[in-house]
Amino acid sequence: MLVTRQTLEDREAQTLSPYATLSRASLGRLHPEPESVSRTAFQKDRDRVLHTEAFRRLEYKTQVFLNTQSDHYRTRLTHTLEVAQVARTAALALGLNETLAETIALAHDLGHTPFGHAGQDALDERLRQVDPDTSGFEHNFQSLRVVDVLEERYPAFDGLNLTFESREGILKHCSRRRALALEADEPGGVGSRFLDRTQPSLEAQVCNFADEIAYNTHDIDDGVRSGLLTYEQVLELPLVFRCHTEALAAAPSVQGRRLLYDTLRRMLSALVCDLTDASAALLAAHRPASADAARRGPPMIAFSNAMTVELRQVNRFLHSALYRHAQVVRTTEGAKAVVRGLFDAYLAEPAQMPAEHARRLPLQQAVVDYLAGMTDRFALKEHERLTGAPLETGGGTASVRPPPLVIDPAFDFERNPRSGVSGPSVNPPSAVHASSGVEAWKRSEG
Ligand code: MG
Repeated sequence: MLVTRQTLEDREAQTLSPYATLSRASLGRLHPEPESVSRTAFQKDRDRVLHTEAFRRLEYKTQVFLNTQSDHYRTRLTHTLEVAQVARTAALALGLNETLAETIALAHDLGHTPFGHAGQDALDERLRQVDPDTSGFEHNFQSLRVVDVLEERYPAFDGLNLTFESREGILKHCSRRRALALEADEPGGVGSRFLDRTQPSLEAQVCNFADEIAYNTHDIDDGVRSGLLTYEQVLELPLVFRCHTEALAAAPSVQGRRLLYDTLRRMLSALVCDLTDASAALLAAHRPASADAARRGPPMIAFSNAMTVELRQVNRFLHSALYRHAQVVRTTEGAKAVVRGLFDAYLAEPAQMPAEHARRLPLQQAVVDYLAGMTDRFALKEHERLTGAPLETGGGTASVRPPPLVIDPAFDFERNPRSGVSGPSVNPPSAVHASSGVEAWKRSEG
């Protein structure tokens, strides 16, 4: 039996919910082209994203910890794959188009700068300083630029020529000013919803939540693994504590790494189930008749109120305890200086960029595009080439290479997976948590 695009489109129409985005009903591509014989429009989009250089570069871009600090922390690529997994699960549970959700998830961070949010902030700040009229750097817009303009793979057009629905999902946020510019270029296109305040497809809404679920969960894992967070600290969070209690109830002797993983696995699962349950209830209440009706209604993908509160606690905790941890800040300050230095160097001497970038206009945009596309290690190498070490910073001199985080080797479990040796406890907890699981955890560490 040969399964054709037609068969797949029929299956979508027969099996998905009435408010799912059907590939057959896509608003199409900016440059008309024949559709595939064997793949739906969204499958084609997903495959195109996967084969880009920008996607491959995600492997060497920071999520929270610099890519060079351990082989086990999330990178922008593994984060992206985890978002895609969550998005597919949730989309499937809600009868939405799994492939569209996956495509948006795989592309959602293509525009991220090197060094995670630190790089983005530095680029935004520099851009606004040299041109107060600019909209600044927006990584969602940059992701759209990657798929619309910057990837050079096809003879007939720039970018990937993705469908409207994939592009709409990639542009998660957009300033009004940017939306007006987009609308002028593409009337009724992907900028419109920011002007008429409608929603993106339900699949795009699912992806936004999948992103939140993935990073809040995996940043706890990486934070504890690095020793910057203690397990006792994260147990202060009601959501984590509940999952920890469930893990111990199911397997009272579980401890150490397995206890952490089982707790976080339960947290991920609790978040996904809450999202799909709460969203299913909203969809049942509003009963959108089609994908387009869902766009015109209120947001219909959401957590329950209780989970929204708990996840906010997690997010606030991660901001104060991990993202603003002195060691993380010290590293990211160095990374920001690298981005600022590169921006200034290319702006002053565009010929330092490869010719295909140097000749793009306006120059500022060319510098932003080139810099945003870099991996952490390439940015460091370029900075060293252009400015030489050491790098002058406000408070004195700092190494060009941002100072490494101090990783407690005892906690880097997988580094010597077969050693069977348990090291000393990571940052001894300030307060002893009255829980048998924590005692077990400490026993396993001590
Ligand atoms: Mg993300």
